[in-house]
Amino acid sequence: PPRVRFCPSPTGNPHVGLVRTALFNWAFARHNQGTMVFRIEDTDAARDSEESYQQLLDSLRWLGLDWDEGPEVGGPHEPYRQSQRMDLYRDVAGKLLAGGYAYHCYCTVTELDERREAARAAGRPSGYDGHCRDLSDERKAAYEREGRESIIRFRMPDEPITFTDLVRGELTFTPDNVPDYGIVRATGAPLYTLVNPVDDALMDITHVLRGEDLLSSTPRQIALYRALIDLGLAHRIPLFGHLPYVMGEGNKKLSKRDPQASLNLYRERGFLPEGLLNYLSLLGWSFSADQDVFSVAEMVGKFDIADVNANPARFDLKKAEAINADHIRRLDVKAFAEACEPWLRAPHANWEPEDFDRSAWEAIAPYAQTRLTVLSDITANVDFLFRKEPVEDETSWQKAMKEGSGALLRTARDRLAAADWAHPEALKEAVLAAGEEHGLKLGKAQAPVRVAVTGRTVGLPLFESLQILGREKSLARIDTALE
Ligand code: GLU
Repeated sequence: PPRVRFCPSPTGNPHVGLVRTALFNWAFARHNQGTMVFRIEDTDAARDSEESYQQLLDSLRWLGLDWDEGPEVGGPHEPYRQSQRMDLYRDVAGKLLAGGYAYHCYCTVTELDERREAARAAGRPSGYDGHCRDLSDERKAAYEREGRESIIRFRMPDEPITFTDLVRGELTFTPDNVPDYGIVRATGAPLYTLVNPVDDALMDITHVLRGEDLLSSTPRQIALYRALIDLGLAHRIPLFGHLPYVMGEGNKKLSKRDPQASLNLYRERGFLPEGLLNYLSLLGWSFSADQDVFSVAEMVGKFDIADVNANPARFDLKKAEAINADHIRRLDVKAFAEACEPWLRAPHANWEPEDFDRSAWEAIAPYAQTRLTVLSDITANVDFLFRKEPVEDETSWQKAMKEGSGALLRTARDRLAAADWAHPEALKEAVLAAGEEHGLKLGKAQAPVRVAVTGRTVGLPLFESLQILGREKSLARIDTALE
């Protein structure tokens, strides 16, 4: 069975590209009864943060993307935080040096820059030129005496590297394009280029599914893997699949700094995990030609990496929202009512928290469920129930209160007062009759009633809303409007 990994660096807030990668790995593991390894690549103390680490865990938990090995759950390859595996990397780097797979490089940044410029000017490949590949012991000793620092560089083979990408098919990288590369800093700190493939090897990862931005590191990692196999540290080279870029506004790559890319934003707006995962799965994959709303379980049932498309995917917020709206409608009404509670009880809701009325909420919830794109929309739809007074919105008033609205509202008030409040249908009859008296169709007649009671020109079905708010409050609001 396959072993895949999700291995983010804990920098900044989780973003949608990262979640897409996690999701594809997870779906692949679950579809194939494989193992999902969650590893934290926190070897860059300057950029990594504990807060970001906690957010990663919390985000995956919220999304329901569980892992079989990793932080909090443990596993046979503990620890799963690279910051706790430094001895291991030092050891591997030592073995690579001793076996001649890597070497000390004494070139200074200035020297590297100068030679790169010269190579560019001469139209030669501008990557590392192999200057320190085969230094004599005397040269090395001389450099050391000079007090030069050295990094450790991996020695790339002189032949091209070919592999079959699970998404893109066969790819070949020539040595000119993949020069020797640094694996350990002068400070002794190991780099991503070392620790990522070393851990993939030690954790026996079989499939590496990750973003296209990492494609250029794959030939390097394959070469490093071959060295690890020679050294008896790895069993096999994993298969690689590179997921397509996600394009944002203006057909530019969605950057993790793009506000649209922030996972927290979707969570705060009230995307359902299922809705968001459904949408993100479509960034490079499709469920079927004629269905793009499906459950996570359905996705897992059909997920095949061979169906991932190599073309860039376009992030389409409108589509994400439409899919989320569908998932909101799919909830049973009790689950929907519960899902909304964080917004209804949040201090930012536009009423006093103690005025929240649970039974009124449960009564109105079925009417609200079909209207929402995201759960946070709920507050504006139901605030008339919990506010002491309806929201004051001048534009809405002007829109609804036309010439003659006062007279109509007075008739409606009297007819409503006489109606049977047990039935929304009776309230509708009352307003309909009031409209007829003033030569107005129902739509026109109910507008002033709605704005008087809810403060808004649009909202949930009016007569159910009136009934749930209750006779007394509804009539009092109309009276206030008539003052
Ligand atoms: N820590 C790397 C990143 O965040 C992981 C890349 C990979 O999947 O190999 O980009």
